[in-house]
Amino acid sequence: MTRRLAAGAAALFLAACLAGCSDGGAQDRAQGAGGKGGPAPAAGASSAGAADRTPQPRSDQGQEASQAPSAAASASASPVPPAGAADAPAGDGPLKGKVVVVDPGHNSRNNEHTAEINRQVDIGTGHKECDTTGTETNSGYTEAAFSLDVAHRLRSILRERGATVVLTHDGDRPFGPCVTERADIGNKAHGDAAVSIHADGAGPGQRGFHVILPASVHGGAADTSAITGPSKELGARVAGKFLESTGSAPSNYIGEGTGLDTRGDLGGLNLSTIPKVFIECGNMRDAQDAAQLTDETWREKAAQGIANGITDFLRG
Ligand SMILES: [Zn+2]
Repeated sequence: MTRRLAAGAAALFLAACLAGCSDGGAQDRAQGAGGKGGPAPAAGASSAGAADRTPQPRSDQGQEASQAPSAAASASASPVPPAGAADAPAGDGPLKGKVVVVDPGHNSRNNEHTAEINRQVDIGTGHKECDTTGTETNSGYTEAAFSLDVAHRLRSILRERGATVVLTHDGDRPFGPCVTERADIGNKAHGDAAVSIHADGAGPGQRGFHVILPASVHGGAADTSAITGPSKELGARVAGKFLESTGSAPSNYIGEGTGLDTRGDLGGLNLSTIPKVFIECGNMRDAQDAAQLTDETWREKAAQGIANGITDFLRG
């Protein structure tokens, strides 16, 4: 099920998107490739590391449980404001007056709280675990540490541009927050855009980034009808700028070279009332991707790319 598309072709697609992406085909194709429960073992199972997909046998989540704390401790040396608290903008730039919600996927201490994070929560269309542990590189650098580091870098860039930035957590909680609360924090902040930061746990040789867009879902408290359009625009811009900044190719195993996927099984998207996407910045289980993800210079480029995509989206 692995698909390889020339990076150039994908870049062209993304460049086209930057000029005003309205491609419906990509979304449909991505749904098929990465959709829940599909017949494709590579695509379906490999993204189990994504924020709140149900743990699967080949997921990396279980393995992290025995090793996470060491890498976790190094994640946030900076002082931590209260979770969900907005940071005052540092500059008077182009994002003045805008509120951006940044959601660092998982939590480095989730593995110490399995009962709490395995508690089922209502995501509107069904029930999922409160949160998951995420994946890690073969050398033990956790997805939670990665996502928090990129979130800090992203916050700094956005604040310099004048935005008010709200983190859903800042490594200051014993576990979680639950996916339901992650959505709720963004909704209550009336964010203009939200991005959830992740890295995937797929197989060796499966490389590249992809951005996950909310599917159109309606059930219980979930109704994404108002956000699918703007989220798609946000996602296309984030993917395009991420590619431009990092030089990474779009995923070769999800999204058929578009760098975009659409999912209806993520509580963090289903329950959002503000434009929101996830980004899987790379595959922690691939050695080449892992070399990038563990490189702080690359992480700064990643944050820059995400920030540029958000900025493009918010400035219209
Ligand atoms: Zn994740």
